[in-house]
Amino acid sequence: MTQLMWFRQDLRIQDNSALWHATQAGQCIAFVALSPKQWQQHNDAPIKIDFYLRQLESLKDSLAQKNIPLIIKKIDEWQDIPHYLEQLTKELDIEHIYANAELGIHEQQRDQAVKNLKLFQDRTLFPVKSIRNKSNEPYKVFTPFKKACYERLHHDVPSCYPSIEKQAKIDCHIQSDALDQKDYQHKQAHWNVTEEHAHQLLNTFIQDDVKDYNKERDFPAYAGTSQLSAYLNIGILSARQCLNALFAPYDGQMHFKHDGEQTWLDELLWREFYQHVLYDFPKVSKHLPFKDETKKLKWENNEKDFKAWSEGQTGIPIVDAGMRQLLSTGWMHNRVRMICAMFLTKNLLVDWRKGEQFFMQHLIDGDLAANNGGWQWSASTGTDSVPYFRIFNPITQSERFDPKGDYIKKWIPELKQLDEKQIHDPYSKNANAHLDYPKPICDLKKTRQRALEAFKSL
Ligand SMILES: Cc1cc2nc3c(=O)[nH]c(=O)nc-3n(C[C@H](O)[C@H](O)[C@H](O)COP(=O)(O)OP(=O)(O)OC[C@H]3O[C@@H](n4cnc5c(N)ncnc54)[C@H](O)[C@@H]3O)c2cc1C
Repeated sequence: MTQLMWFRQDLRIQDNSALWHATQAGQCIAFVALSPKQWQQHNDAPIKIDFYLRQLESLKDSLAQKNIPLIIKKIDEWQDIPHYLEQLTKELDIEHIYANAELGIHEQQRDQAVKNLKLFQDRTLFPVKSIRNKSNEPYKVFTPFKKACYERLHHDVPSCYPSIEKQAKIDCHIQSDALDQKDYQHKQAHWNVTEEHAHQLLNTFIQDDVKDYNKERDFPAYAGTSQLSAYLNIGILSARQCLNALFAPYDGQMHFKHDGEQTWLDELLWREFYQHVLYDFPKVSKHLPFKDETKKLKWENNEKDFKAWSEGQTGIPIVDAGMRQLLSTGWMHNRVRMICAMFLTKNLLVDWRKGEQFFMQHLIDGDLAANNGGWQWSASTGTDSVPYFRIFNPITQSERFDPKGDYIKKWIPELKQLDEKQIHDPYSKNANAHLDYPKPICDLKKTRQRALEAFKSL
């Protein structure tokens, strides 16, 4: 019998649960729906869509080498997909549709309406609902969640699926639609696609960089992190593949020779944690804070402040450098994401949902679970988030994590001439009045106090 493999956020042929199972069950035809309206409703960034479409081309080639035809259909909104699939399965005499589960609410609703769908758990290392505390409830705090994952990993590291076989040629008369890629091209879309490329990045990171990851990961001027988030997000790489590459030097068993290896695993587990939170607490899909009491928080939501922040013109160099890195490349270093998010939500008292949306509209790795988790962590509204009284001072953060100002200089050429003492806070002590760079839009001490009071009053 013929099976239909429906690709979504899993654009790879290696280690793909649903694809592997589909090919075991018979001849396989692949399908992808392109849904521009839905992408817009979900605030997907043009740079992310461009990345997706380019990878889709590469996936089509990889599938063709296995004699699996790929049908690409433009179906603007997800609600119309179930009906289309019903017709398609009749026309092609399909036995089952195979897909990997997605964890957001809209995704689940879409899938529930699809007949004959077999779903596989592939986006996470461990199936959702499988990591539970002693009361059989989901974890709300990262550290015990991580411990539970460690126990599982000590026992058994989830292995990757074998490569799929080349199948006999199969006829498929369905014409694919084309989508105008030009609509999404980002001027600096330098992120290369293909599974091979993602594996090269992963292997180079594991060979050369992971051992010092714990020391270098917080310094945005170094390329000390893997930069694999965009690949993990649309599934060019799986989390299992990352784990297996990490433990490959130890015969695939969980073992660490360097602290950096363990720290990197912990970051993969943060990703895992937020995916499980998204599934277990659907309210985070509905623009609601995890902590109910923070619903009442009185945000200032000053439009001018938000505009300055979103354009990298706040007069706080580390914040502006981060925002300009995001606008220019579609990616921002994690330490700087936290600084920018905390500055917006605490110093400017702008609602975290506005920042979350803006990030989503610009990130190449924009992912509902991780983005929501990161924003709610920074805004102190989330599960296991930073306590509201621990407000980062962006100048101190800058001095600590960009001590020479190299990162700032890269993204703010206006400040290139300043030395490492002045660059973090150019106008302190009434210096540098001549600079073509904005004065700080707020007083950090006063706004810190304002945020503390707003949270205390809850
Ligand atoms: C406000 C805010 C928004 C964020 N939005 C996103 C987002 O939309 N998509 C996204 O993938 N990550 C997001 N993150 C998490 C993190 O910043 C990125 O995953 C990381 O910077 C990606 O760089 P990397 O691939 O070099 O990560 P590495 O440091 O090499 O880490 C390896 C992988 O672990 C995962 N990871 C690392 N840190 C985190 C984390 N704190 N939370 C969840 N997963 C993590 C990512 O998949 C990453 O690729 C956000 C963080 C904050 C504070």
